[in-house]
This record gives sequence, C-alpha cells and structure tokens, in this order.
Amino acid sequence: MYDPIVRQWACQMRGLCCKGYDIHLDRVALSRVFKRLTAAGDARAPLFDPATAEASDDGFFPLPLTAERACHFLEDKLCGYRGHFGAETLPTPCRVYPYASILTPTRQLLGLIFTCPTALGLLAAEPALAVVVDPDGEPPMPFVGDLASDRRAYVDAHGERVSAAAFWDLHWALFERFRASAGAGDVLSRLRALAEHAFDAPCPEPLALTAESLGETRFDAALTGQIFLRGGSPFLLPTLFEPRRPRPLDEPLPDYERGEDDLLGRYLEHRLLVPTFLEERADLGFLVGLLLALAARYRIERARGLEPLYAIHQLDAVFVQGTMPERLFPAGGRVDWRTVAMIGLGGTL
Ligand code: SF4
Repeated sequence: MYDPIVRQWACQMRGLCCKGYDIHLDRVALSRVFKRLTAAGDARAPLFDPATAEASDDGFFPLPLTAERACHFLEDKLCGYRGHFGAETLPTPCRVYPYASILTPTRQLLGLIFTCPTALGLLAAEPALAVVVDPDGEPPMPFVGDLASDRRAYVDAHGERVSAAAFWDLHWALFERFRASAGAGDVLSRLRALAEHAFDAPCPEPLALTAESLGETRFDAALTGQIFLRGGSPFLLPTLFEPRRPRPLDEPLPDYERGEDDLLGRYLEHRLLVPTFLEERADLGFLVGLLLALAARYRIERARGLEPLYAIHQLDAVFVQGTMPERLFPAGGRVDWRTVAMIGLGGTL
C-alpha cells in the first residue's frame, strides 16, 4: 500500500544524500563494511574498524565523512561502494533512502523521506493524497520497520495495551479520518479535530504567538505561565525549539502552486500513512503528539524564515532522520501533546 509518489520517484543522481548528513550505522553494519573493505585490501577499512570506531550517545556509529563532510565512497555523485563492493554489505540507510517502509500484520506501507528534493517536488506536485493498494505489487525495497510482531508493546492513544491487529485498525481509522477531513477547514483545525478524537479530550486553547516569539524563542514569564495554566509544561520547549541549521541545498527547491496549508496537510497525511516514528514505539499517543509537534516546528521554521518547502525538508531532517521524537516525548513518560498543541495549532498558515 503506497502513496503514488513512491512509484514516481526516481533518483536524479545529485549525490546530495551522501554528503552533509549524519548517517548512522549499527555495529553489525559497521562490521560488514569493515570486513568487506579489509577483504578487498581497501585503504579505507580502518575507518570502519569496530574496535576503534566511537559510537555516539544513541549507540550508533556515524558514517565516517571526509573533511568536506562527504562519504568516502562518493564518486562523481554516485555511490562508489555499491559500484566496487556491491549492494550486499551496503548499510541499510544507503540501500533504502529515500524510501520509508513499515511492515504491519496486514500491509506493507511505503512512503518517502522529504529531505530528498526529488521526493519533495513530487509531494508538492501531487494535488491530493491517493492510496494505492496493490496486492501483487513488488515493493521497491525490503521492509525496514517490522511492526507486525505480537511481541512488541502496542498502545492506543490512552496508553492502554492493545493487540497488534487492533493497533493497526486504530491507526488506519485515524488516517482515514484525517484524510476525509481534507477540504473541511484548514490543516490546523483538521489536526485539532484529529487530536481531540484520538485523545478524547478537548485541545487546550492555542497560545497567540507572534512570529518574533516563535522565531527567536522568546518565551517570557507570562507565556510560560499561560502554558502551565492550560495544563501544559514548558519543559519540552528547549527541545522543540532547539536550533538546527537547515541543510544547504545546491539547487533551488521546486515550485509549488497550491497554498502552504495544502502542502502541510499533504505532508502530515503522508507521515500518518507511513508512520516511520512507530519503528521505535508502537504508541498512537506518541504518533498524534508528533503530528502536533510537526505542526509546531513547521510554524517555528517558517517564523525563522524558511520557505514552505524548505520547512518541510527541515521537518524530515529533524523528525525522521534526527532524534527529536524520542527526545521530545521520552519513552516511559506521558506524551505531552497539550503543550505542542498550544504552540502548533495557534494562528493560520
Ligand atoms: S556508502 Fe554509498 S550510498 Fe552510502 S553514503 Fe556512501 S556513497 Fe552514499
């Protein structure tokens, strides 16, 4: 099951995804590359030696980069590793980007990651989200997130344990509800209605934030007090607002013709259809909280001066390829959807 832009995507061989990104490898991927390079007598093997490589805080190993922050194997915008050593030991992020895939008990869900400008152009050009169901289809990639197992803990938006089948039924109902609301109000009111349905509680009244306060993170005592009064907590604000420089692209992003309300709506529908966030936690409260956080961060990026498409690019860099989701709503704690709703749902786009 896929958004049709998945089938439309084709690599334009820009080589953009192999430089400037922090690509993370697990120890097995690192060892495979090390062994393959050692066997080939390649001088780059020591860079991948698991005995000396240093893991970052999350336990993964950053792909070694050159002084220009490019992969050591990037050759004239193409992957030299794949060319010389084959795809068998190519790390998963290199093999699957920019596809995103989730395996559920009944479906393989396929989408794209929008840090790729080609994927972003397809999102911007697509007039409305369609969902293609192809029972005999050959997916363009193996699944990455296997969320079909009954051994995982599945929880609904109220934190109650549910079966895998019930979880994915609930997920599908949320997606259908959000998609059906297209055209019935602006994207922020649609998102508000979705959150109120999922959490079965009214959203707190959004804060009236100016572009200055959003862009420069100026939360004075009065605003902080308002967050407390409305049942939120300002403690997640440093994470939500943390600066992350947008990744420079060496070409302009494509034009888009419809309004940004429509663009953000399409983006959120896509992220809800292929919920990559759930790879870490099969938790519907976490998913809906993150949709609200995406809207909040979108407003922040716009207030900081990013153009709409560039802001979507940045959202996937921060939320899909970055570690914002887990840091914003750490496992084991309550998903503070109220605070992100207060920031994300105020104003208009
Ligand atoms: S190994 Fe290949 S695909 Fe992966 S970052 Fe390097 S050049 Fe790109």
